Amino acid sequence: MEIKRGIAVSPGIAIAKSLIIDSEDYRIPRRSIDASQRTREIQRVRNAFKSAIDELTQLETASDQIQESKIKDIFAVHLRFLHDRSLRKKITDLVRLDLVTAEYAVSAILREIASNFTKAKDTYISERAADIYDIERRLLRQLLGKKREDVEHLTEEVAIVARELSPTQTAGFNKDFVKGLATDAGGRTSHTAIVARSLGIPAVVALEDLTENISGGDTVIIDGNRGIVVVNPDSQTIRQYEQYSQEFLALEHKLDAIKEKPAVTRDGVKITLLGNIEFPDEAEQVLQKGGDGIGLYRTEFLYLNSESEPTEQEHYQAYAETVSVFKHRPVIIRTVDLGADKYTQSRRFAPEPNPFLGLRSIRFCLQNLMMFKTQLHAILRASVLGEVKIMFPLITNIQEMMQAKMILRDVMEDLDEESVDYNKNIQVGIMIETPSAALTAFTLARDADFFSIGTNDLTQYTLAVDRGNELVSTLYSTVDPAVLRLIRTVIQDAHKAQIDISICGEIASEPEHIMLMLGMGVRTLSLAPPMIPEIKQIIRSVTIEDCNDVARKILTMNSERQISSYLRDATRKILPETF
Ligand code: PEP
Ligand code: MG
Repeated sequence: MEIKRGIAVSPGIAIAKSLIIDSEDYRIPRRSIDASQRTREIQRVRNAFKSAIDELTQLETASDQIQESKIKDIFAVHLRFLHDRSLRKKITDLVRLDLVTAEYAVSAILREIASNFTKAKDTYISERAADIYDIERRLLRQLLGKKREDVEHLTEEVAIVARELSPTQTAGFNKDFVKGLATDAGGRTSHTAIVARSLGIPAVVALEDLTENISGGDTVIIDGNRGIVVVNPDSQTIRQYEQYSQEFLALEHKLDAIKEKPAVTRDGVKITLLGNIEFPDEAEQVLQKGGDGIGLYRTEFLYLNSESEPTEQEHYQAYAETVSVFKHRPVIIRTVDLGADKYTQSRRFAPEPNPFLGLRSIRFCLQNLMMFKTQLHAILRASVLGEVKIMFPLITNIQEMMQAKMILRDVMEDLDEESVDYNKNIQVGIMIETPSAALTAFTLARDADFFSIGTNDLTQYTLAVDRGNELVSTLYSTVDPAVLRLIRTVIQDAHKAQIDISICGEIASEPEHIMLMLGMGVRTLSLAPPMIPEIKQIIRSVTIEDCNDVARKILTMNSERQISSYLRDATRKILPETF
């Protein structure tokens, strides 16, 4: 039994057999298999060789047609290696005798050969090392690609273990079979964590070297409440966790009972609770959990799950489906926030050196006007179906906001010419998620109908800490005094300008931070749908006066540690079951 600690990012407890998804971009750890799996793993090696040979033969034929003789030579060299029986035997022997996975055997043997080549004095031979690494990647792609396909067609319950998962991969998991997620990488507000929370799959991230200490098929416990993963637990630990799991489900059940009740503080102040969604079908879950509408629809997921750009009609259908659930309540559609950790299939292969500071979000839209206009066209068409609002992400200055609004006006004119109906008074707001936007909120408020504070990005840009990097995850905190000061400024400026202000970052899903947000003057929160009942319970247990007291005290504190521990204590008194 081995116990690992990471960051709890999605609550709940999973006990299941592990399914490991390795990545060809990272070293494949040595991982043992059971003697009963030997034949299957050897067959996987053979299949991978066969598929790689087929793939290369096709490429060689294609290069024949375009008469690329140099490329053809490279393919021929690679094919010779792949046809070498002794190479295949070395790999299958390693699986057979050492009982290791196919991935590990391929990687270990080919890397050993590459390293011997590198040492050769003859430069022709030493340069061949690059070819060997190429062959290794091609074989691993076959092995891992097949495994990823298997994940899409699961027939039994599993806990997925990986070095890291992309938000797109996570969004594609079938909740009926994927019971939990555990990754070496990641942070609390990485998009993979956000998607896991939305799907309600228990998840722990930042486990550092978990994938090196687990074999496929090992039983694993993923405790998404405490941030713990137990590999090969003993029977007593399993019993203990089964009991935790029952207690957790009972608490969830109890909280679900308050879904019909309003989110009103004990002294009668109404708080609006909206849901954050990535897909239209989640809108129904927001309603089920007692939410008042959609405060953040992350529309970029329309692009992430598809090989081609969605059409205007596909955009429209997604928005119409969402609005049909909340006809007379707000649905805030955020324009696409692509880039950084969310790349479309076509951009995936052209990574930027510093993607979080690069061509992401509104910047990407402003440089891809056709794409941007297509989305705005669809949002405007859907605006007559309900209370649709538009929100622009990652605004850093007033020009950007004005430019985005100008393009919106262009699209409105197009619709006028086409005699298509839309809401001419549609509200247009912006996300405040950069320090520059927070510090100029008073100016931005003149031209925005509302603000929503994206604390996930605001924290990473204020503290210069990558929100998805486990190596600096202890430095990432939304209740750092610097971040809180910016949040307070934005709230005050929005109040002065009399525009709506909400918070839609993960802080709004975190029980221990709710009193502080209310005390700072926020009355609308947008959060992960599964967390709505718990947050409502907290709201119904406090008075605004209590919250004001908490906020007053917190804003005099200089240390993040002091703030966090004070907030935990204050919330524990109200909802002891949460901790
Ligand atoms: C945020 O940055 O806080 C936010 C809500 O947007 P996202 O998490 O999608 O970047
Ligand atoms: Mg953001």
